[in-house]
Amino acid sequence: SSYLATRMKTVAPSASGAAAQRARALAAAGRDIINLTAGEPDFDTPAHIQQAANDAIARGETRYTNVDGTDALKRAIIGKFARENGLDYSPAEVMAGTGAKQLIFNAFLATLDVGDEVIIPAPCWVSYPEMVKLMGGTPVVVPCSENAGFKLDAEQLAAAITPRTKWLTLNTPNNPSGSVYSEAELQALGRVLQDHPGILVMTDDIYEHILFDGGRFSTMAAAVPALRDRVLTINGVSKAYSMTGWRIGYAAGPADLIRAMKTLQSQSTSCASAVSQAAAVEALNGPQDLVAKRNAEFRDRRDLIVGELATIPGLSCLSPQGAFYVYPSCAGLIGKRTPEGTVIRTDEDFVAYLLESQGVAVVAGSPYGLSPYFRISFAVSEETLRKAAARIRTACESLQ
Ligand code: PLP
Repeated sequence: SSYLATRMKTVAPSASGAAAQRARALAAAGRDIINLTAGEPDFDTPAHIQQAANDAIARGETRYTNVDGTDALKRAIIGKFARENGLDYSPAEVMAGTGAKQLIFNAFLATLDVGDEVIIPAPCWVSYPEMVKLMGGTPVVVPCSENAGFKLDAEQLAAAITPRTKWLTLNTPNNPSGSVYSEAELQALGRVLQDHPGILVMTDDIYEHILFDGGRFSTMAAAVPALRDRVLTINGVSKAYSMTGWRIGYAAGPADLIRAMKTLQSQSTSCASAVSQAAAVEALNGPQDLVAKRNAEFRDRRDLIVGELATIPGLSCLSPQGAFYVYPSCAGLIGKRTPEGTVIRTDEDFVAYLLESQGVAVVAGSPYGLSPYFRISFAVSEETLRKAAARIRTACESLQ
């Protein structure tokens, strides 16, 4: 429409959100849909966390809080970084927001001038490039091959840096690939960054706790202490504690950047939901045993879906080390024809065919910046995964 601002020409709606919505709409219209688009755990928020929210309401903690979060939540965030990551932060270096997403948005809004570049290793979360474009910045999407475990290496980083580079984004474990950076890999990237003191690092650790095979989680600020004062660490309670709808994320980084993000928050949302903040305090400070239990369940589901996909003709897939997604290649199906005669030319075509022919909803790889792949979320029951795999097999075997 003519009344929309020019900036709306630069930004697309969240591709994973759109795929999820399409699946829900088809299901509501009566079609038999298996929805594998979800970017969230299918578990309930743990009872002790629900109770903490109820208690907060009963105590009248239902008003505006400090812009950057309640003192209790900020203490819990500082405690989390010290306990789990060996990182010491002062209250001026941390803040809470309405999901990790708002903090990432505010960080880009606070720092990007027109033409500033953000290096984004791909496949990447769909929102980073869109947010960067919205702020007038330029996403520099660097494809990271499956052979390299979908991870950025030092040479690729060095080659992508220009005088306009403002940020490098890292996301480990990764959405959509499930790749996890080792400490040594982060240190190799860190050595490149040490020659470029003007570049900030945004590390999105939202999947920190969803980690398999005894893998150890590493984060840039701890792996390369020399970079600590230009690393913004983003995290939140959404994925670790099955709290996506509560909308609480948090960030730690240089005080001047946190101050700027806080200014933006004070002029937009004022603060995150008070009740949700109380729940997040309990999530961070309370018992952690459910995290490991749910991890074991995610691992079993991963093994199931990876095992199934390995035997489907035309598909191949790495076994992810973390998060709850697999990112299979459909390269072996490109150029084939559907029973209706349509040629599959892209991952978008394949995903549309899967939905049309078998009612299996997944997300195409193109918005994640690396094709031809697609994303399956395995945050669904094993029974659903088995059913989905059988239908994907039928769809693939029907291609000529
Ligand atoms: N970062 C990544 C990589 C994600 O996949 C998501 C959610 O899908 C988020 C951030 C947003 O998390 P939150 O619910 O805390 O806004």
